[in-house]
Amino acid sequence: MGEVEEFARRLENYLRHGNPRGPKKSIPITQLSFCPLKLALSLRFDVRYFGTKNDGQILGTVLHAGLLNTIVDSWDYLRGNLTEKPLVEVPLQYELENGWVLSGRADLVVGKHVFEFKFLHEYPYEAIPESIEEIDEIPDDSVVKAYVEQLNAYLHVLPDVEVGHLWIFNRNSLVPWKKILVEKNGDMFDELLKRARRVVKLVEDLENGNVPDSFEPRFGWECRNCIYRPICPRS
Ligand code: SF4
Repeated sequence: MGEVEEFARRLENYLRHGNPRGPKKSIPITQLSFCPLKLALSLRFDVRYFGTKNDGQILGTVLHAGLLNTIVDSWDYLRGNLTEKPLVEVPLQYELENGWVLSGRADLVVGKHVFEFKFLHEYPYEAIPESIEEIDEIPDDSVVKAYVEQLNAYLHVLPDVEVGHLWIFNRNSLVPWKKILVEKNGDMFDELLKRARRVVKLVEDLENGNVPDSFEPRFGWECRNCIYRPICPRS
């Protein structure tokens, strides 16, 4: 009977909370660089079924799937000097306190290399500098800053990777694309963990019926696309 109990517990959690771990305590790394209040509201009220994806996100999902399939299916032709097998959609998790975890999926891991692919439409793509050596060179309001933080987190969480490759495609033309090398940065990861703990605190505040009355999003453009505008104290 013992082996069935865990299955029953997970099924109950899934039916009750939509998550086999129980009440949702998993923070997506991809969202940690953006407005903490938006993320806390999403975690607290679990809006997965509200169709929050816009056309651009749907297209990005399809392009991701197509690119990853192309890489895996044609690896023997594409691999060049890489000797290891490509692993796609590699799940990763980092334990915070009190059952909270950071979670994500790396697009592609090949040996010590981890890759993250992004697809932007023309204008934001054009706004990215052609070559970036340091994160300080990226304009403050650029979404690329968030992408670098995400990849840096993967470098800290995945056990055997050493180098991050952020490849940003213009979704209208795909070729050529911008390649940004990301090296492990401990301070940047600590900052991301601080943001995660702040989100946890905000979720607890929301559970206690407290909504912060003034709030600044991370990037100036975030509120424009936010589904919480009607209830956000900032709007
Ligand atoms: S409207 Fe702006 S401040 Fe409010 S949750 Fe959304 S992004 Fe954050």
